[in-house]
Order: sequence, then C-alpha cells, then structure tokens
Amino acid sequence: VSVVLAVDIGGTKLAAAVVDDRGRIRGRGQVPAPVTTDPDEFFEGLVAGLMAALRGAGVLPDELAGVGVGCGGPMRWPEGLVSPLNIPAWRDFPLAMRLRAELDVPQVLVHNDAVALAVGEHWRGAGAGSDNLLAVTVSTGVGGGLILDGRLYHGKSGHVGHIVAEPGGPPCACGGRGCVEAIASGPSSVRWALESGWEPPAGTAADGLALSQAAAAGDPVARRAVQRSGRTVGLALASCAHALDVETAVVAGGFSRTGALFWDALRETFADHARMAFGAATRVVPSGAPADAGLLGAAAFVLLRERYGWEENRAAR
Ligand SMILES: [Zn+2]
Repeated sequence: VSVVLAVDIGGTKLAAAVVDDRGRIRGRGQVPAPVTTDPDEFFEGLVAGLMAALRGAGVLPDELAGVGVGCGGPMRWPEGLVSPLNIPAWRDFPLAMRLRAELDVPQVLVHNDAVALAVGEHWRGAGAGSDNLLAVTVSTGVGGGLILDGRLYHGKSGHVGHIVAEPGGPPCACGGRGCVEAIASGPSSVRWALESGWEPPAGTAADGLALSQAAAAGDPVARRAVQRSGRTVGLALASCAHALDVETAVVAGGFSRTGALFWDALRETFADHARMAFGAATRVVPSGAPADAGLLGAAAFVLLRERYGWEENRAAR
C-alpha cells in the first residue's frame, strides 16, 4: 500500500492528512495559519502540522511516496512557487522545493486548491463516474478545477473566475471588467453590499462571513448580495457546461454553505441559460465535504499520477 502526505493550505488553517491508495485517511494534522509576515516562520508552522499528521498515522517521512499540496493562488505551476492572496508572508515562495528538502521525499506536487477539490470530488466525491467535472470555489477569489475525459486538465491556474459575466461590469483585479470574481467573490459581494447601503453590525468586520450572517438574518441588501453572487456563478457554470460538456459541477466556498438563498439563485440562473438537453442534465451540487475532498485530491496528484498528476519539470520543456 502506498501512502502520501496531502496538504491543504488556506488563509486561516493549514491541514494535512496521510492518505493511502484506497483513499483512506490514516492520520490528520491541523494548525492555525501562523500570523506572521516572515516566510520561514510561516513554513515552520506548516511543518508542525505535517509532523502531527505523520505521527497520527504512525508513518515516517521516508515511507511516503510523495507529497501532494493544494494551495490558494496565484502560483507558478508546475514549479510550485506560491503567492496565495490571503497569505501575505508568501510571495513567490518555493513551496515544492522547501517541502522536498524538509521531508526528503521523491516528489512534491503543488497545484491550486480548487484543482485539488476537483480531483478529490472526481476520485472520491460527488463527481465519481463523471467524465467531465468542474469544481468552483467562491471565496476570497473565485477559482476552478476541471476534469476532462476522466483526467485532470492541467491548465496553468484555474481562471474560471475570470469568465465575463457582465459586459462592462465592475473592474476586476485581473485588469478586465465584469469577471465572475469581480462580482461573486466574498470581497466583491461585500463591496457591492456596502455601496448599496449595507452596514455590518458594530464591531464586526465587513467580510463575506458577516454578509452571509446578515443575509441569513434577513437583511435585504445582504440577501441581494448573496443572490447576486449565486446568479453570477450560475451564469458562469452554464457557459462552462456548454463549452466543455460538464456533467457534474461542484461548488464550494463560504456562500455555497449559505443554503437556499445562494443555491436557488444559482440553480434558477443555470436552468434559465442551460436549456439544451446536455446542459440541462448537468448536475450542479455543493461539495459535501470540501476540506476532505481537497486533501484527497492533493493525495491523488501523487497516488494516481497517470490520471491526475504531472511531471514536476514540465516547465523545463
Ligand atoms: Zn478578472
């Protein structure tokens, strides 16, 4: 049985698991993301989480077939240099190289966290059995991962967030206008809500979580903001379904857990725009367990390399 170390790097927590080739999680480790601007200190925090997972599984680093990592973007792929939006300590941080040196493992494969989610959902989740699957994470940014003809489509960074959903719409960090990310992400939705008169409760940060809570409590502007995000994601999914014959679309991220408000808007918009038989047949579902799907996907980069992995030196072509 081969075992790998799977790692999920987010802005608030760093999670790791030892996973075997049957998709079983043998041990876990999790640490809060270190609050620091020092890249090495942040890395040391990560290593503590990894060691906890190895101890929990009773596995030594030299027994690992490799390490798979899902990390927030942007990043340079496949080199594994990461600059996660919500981890200011890391800018062009050589994560793959540092992990290879730290653990002395044969391979370290780092990809976008939304890509890891897509792989996890395809291997062991909502999309098992689908030839074509799209996973979208609606969070600080909007990212995506794609399985085509049963294999991971590598792309470079998962730019589904920059599909245009509103011509001439709000300016986007990418330099364009009206991208899905510029409308539907947490920060974009908060910006729209504030401009439309929403005020977070006193002493609360104006962020996506506060907006979700206000929507759940019935605040009309917050409700419209969450619906606007859902509609925009629904539009993007309809376009992708047509372009790529997507059979299963999985949505994760903060708003995907807000329930009917987000999902009704998303599904209605999707159904309005995906009318041909194959588009209408696309299953659009929330990720059941996004944290575990991300870890299983990261593990599968290494464990099922023919289907989901890649050559680390691919950039050297
Ligand atoms: Zn954009």
